[in-house]
Amino acid sequence: MRVRFAPSPTGALHIGGARAALYNWLLAQGPEHATFVLRIEDTDPERSTKENVEQILDALRWLGLNWDEGPIFQTNNTARHQEALAQLLASGHAYHSTAGKAEVDAYKAEHGASAGFRGTPEASGAVRLRVPDKPATSFDDAVRGEISTPNASMDDPVIARGDGSVLYNFAVAVDDLDAQITHVVRGEDHISNTPKQLLVFEALGAPQPRYAHLPLLHGPDGKKLSKRHGAASVQELRDAGYLPEAVINYIALLGAGFAPDEELFSAAELAARFKLESVSKSPAVFDEKKLRNFNGQYLRALSSEELTRRLEAFTGHPNLAPAVEISREKIQTLRDFWPLAGFIYDGAGHDPKAFDKWIAKDPARLASARETLAELPEWNLTTIEAALTALVEGSGAKPGQVYQPIRVALSGTTVSPGIFETLNVLGREESLKRMDQALDRAG
Ligand code: GLU
Repeated sequence: MRVRFAPSPTGALHIGGARAALYNWLLAQGPEHATFVLRIEDTDPERSTKENVEQILDALRWLGLNWDEGPIFQTNNTARHQEALAQLLASGHAYHSTAGKAEVDAYKAEHGASAGFRGTPEASGAVRLRVPDKPATSFDDAVRGEISTPNASMDDPVIARGDGSVLYNFAVAVDDLDAQITHVVRGEDHISNTPKQLLVFEALGAPQPRYAHLPLLHGPDGKKLSKRHGAASVQELRDAGYLPEAVINYIALLGAGFAPDEELFSAAELAARFKLESVSKSPAVFDEKKLRNFNGQYLRALSSEELTRRLEAFTGHPNLAPAVEISREKIQTLRDFWPLAGFIYDGAGHDPKAFDKWIAKDPARLASARETLAELPEWNLTTIEAALTALVEGSGAKPGQVYQPIRVALSGTTVSPGIFETLNVLGREESLKRMDQALDRAG
C-alpha cells in the first residue's frame, strides 16, 4: 500500500488538510504499513513560495506526521509530464485542438447541452484527452461507494495549454502513477477531478489507484469550517496552545467512524483502529470547545517536568516549574497559563474593578490578613493554610472575603492559582510587599 499527501502550499495548513495528512499517516503506521509519500504541488509560482512550503512542512512536523518519501516537488516532474503528454499524442489518446469556449458552446448547441465536447484534431493548439467511447468512468470510492460518470457527458478534457504546459488533473495523475500510489485519500472537494484523473491512467494504460474522499469539516453551526469558528489552521491551533497529540487525537476522530464512547487514543492506538472503509460519509463537526476539553485532559496527563518544558518553550520564559505545579489543574491550553500565573513573574496587574470591590472598599480585611501572615514563624503551605483558615473562622467572614483581597493584592485580578499555593510560591517577602503596595494604593 502506498499513499500520499499532496498539498498545494498556499499558506497555513488548514485543519481539513491536516486531517487528510493524518489519515494517510495512520495508514502508514497501522497494520497495512503503507508507505507515505509527501508531494508538494507547487505549480502556482505566486503562491508556492519557499515560506509557504516551509509552513506546510513545519505544521506536519509539529503534528508529528512524518513521511517516508519526498517531499517530491511537482515542478521537478515537468520533463516527465511532457514525456507522458507526448506518449498520449503519439498513441492517439490525445490530440491538439484550438477549440475554446465558443467552439464548445457551438458544439453543445448542436448536440445537446449535456453532450460532452469532442474536438477535431489539429496541427497545434492545446491538448485534449479523448474520452473513450464507453458507457461510463466509474470508481468504487472507499468512503462513498460507487461513483459513476457517463462518458457521453464528459468534455474531452484539456490536459495541456497551447504553450505545452500541463494542467493540474494531468500532472496529479502522472505523479500518482510515477509514485506508484495505490490509495488516494483526500478531501471531498476533489471528487469531481477524479474521473478526469482516471481517464489519464486509462489512456496511459496504467492501473488506477483506489480513491477515498473524506467528507468536509463543518463548524458547530453546520457551516463549512472557516475562521469564523475560531482556529482554522494547524498554525493557529499551535499558537492557541494546543498540544499536537491532542490535536491529532481530536481530528482523527472527525468522521473516522470509531465508536462514540471511545475518545482518548494515542497515535499508535488510532493507527491500529483506523480503517478507510469506516470513514463516515457525512460532514464531521470540528468543535474547538471539544478540542479544548481534550487538550486539558492531555495536558494533565503530562508529567510536571514535561509540562514545564512545554510551557517554557511556549512562553519563552525560563524557570516556570513552581508556577506550573500550582496551575496545572486550572489550565486547558498552554496559552491559558500566562494569564493565570504570569503575575508571579511580571508583578501584580491592576484591575480597577477588582481592586475597588475587594480592597479599596474595606482595606481592613487585607490589612488583617497581612498581619496574620507576617507573624508566621515559618512560611510554607501548611502554615499559610492553617493561619488563613483560622483567620476565616475567627473573623466570621466568608472565605472569599479573606482570600479575594489577598488574591487581588498578589495578582491584580480575581484569578490566580490556589491562594495558599500562590503565597507559598511567591514567598514571604514578595507576598507581603505586594500586600503593602495594595494597602498603600487604597490609602
Ligand atoms: N494539491 C491539492 C490540494 O492541496 C490536493 C491534490 C490531491 O490530493 O489530489 O488541495
